[in-house]
This record gives sequence, structure tokens and C-alpha cells, in this order.
Amino acid sequence: MHEMAITESLLRITLAEAAKAGATRVTALHIKMGAYADIVPTILREYFAIAARGTAAEGARVEIGRIPVTMRCRTCGWQGPVDKLHIRCGGCAGTDLQLLTGREFYLESLEAE
Ligand SMILES: [Zn+2]
Repeated sequence: MHEMAITESLLRITLAEAAKAGATRVTALHIKMGAYADIVPTILREYFAIAARGTAAEGARVEIGRIPVTMRCRTCGWQGPVDKLHIRCGGCAGTDLQLLTGREFYLESLEAE
């Protein structure tokens, strides 16, 4: 259940950023998450709601934006989006691919008042 650890660090960052901005209440978090990030959004939202109780982020919405999986082909140098279920190069149809994006997980912005 690594979502719990992720949620705790997310909450820590959120509260620190809100305090820095002089905000007393966080209303929403905008998160960016790669399609390959090993995190379940519904669990993350549930944990966040629990962890944020009694803090300035209590009741904040958690918006999750997806980052597509893109790869680079080591054979021909092609770069582009790849279907998760059908991983192959868009140029030469090879499979010697390197992941460029898709594992990200970060807090993009906050809405606070
Ligand atoms: Zn290729």
C-alpha cells in the first residue's frame, strides 16, 4: 500500500506550499500522473481525504491529470506515444524501447484561499 506513503508526502508538500503562500485553506490539488505510475487514483483520493482531516487541506479536491506513455526506439530513434497494451515502435515496429514519459507523479498546482 505505497499510496499511503505517497499521500503523506503529498499532504506535507501541499501544506508547506499553502503556508508559504499565506493560504489558510487548500481547495484543490492538481496532480500529474503518468499512465505507468503505479498508483490507484481512487485509493489516493480516499487516503488524502483521511490524511487531510484537521489540516488546511481538509476537503480539498484531488484532480488527477494523465501523462501519456511515450517511448524512444533504440533501433531507429523514433519517439512517440505508445499503446500500453501494444508496445512497439511507431517507426520500425521494433520492441527495443526506452520509456521517456509515463512514470511521473507530481503536484502541478494548488488552489487555495
Ligand atoms: Zn524503431
